Amino acid sequence: MTRDRDLTAYCGLYCGDCIPSNTRLFEMIEELQELAAKLRLYDYAELLSRRDAACEDYPAFERMLAALAGWRCPSPCRAGGGRPSCLVRECAREKGFDGCWECANRRGCELLDPLRGFHRGTIDENLDAIAERGIDGWADGRGRHYPWS
Ligand code: SF4
Ligand code: SF4
Repeated sequence: MTRDRDLTAYCGLYCGDCIPSNTRLFEMIEELQELAAKLRLYDYAELLSRRDAACEDYPAFERMLAALAGWRCPSPCRAGGGRPSCLVRECAREKGFDGCWECANRRGCELLDPLRGFHRGTIDENLDAIAERGIDGWADGRGRHYPWS
């Protein structure tokens, strides 16, 4: 098994680029939640809110941290991470493919359209690159995962 193989999703995305797979980010969120609870930052912010209106938003900050913590993806797509129920993954597996790059119909595949909508040309570029170079060494020249990346 290569790193590229482990992190290449059936749809051609690279799990290592996905924010929900960023281990350091989620460790930091967890550390911050634990430290905030230990220091009782909630009470401190309430006290400070008498002279700093921004502290009135502390409960929203806590809710946001909790929401962020929930975005964590436990494992790469090939190991069962990503969307719990993914039609693309199910379809590729049913066809016995390693991924959609092995599929002759991929260019016209409507199941990939929602991903194309968000990741733009990256889905087709990546699938073409994997088809050409193979799953074990294609990822160096991969496309942008997020529109802002
Ligand atoms: S779960 Fe589906 S959409 Fe998500 S990375 Fe895997 S194949 Fe792609
Ligand atoms: S039809 Fe082909 S390209 Fe579309 S999801 Fe299934 S395997 Fe992937």
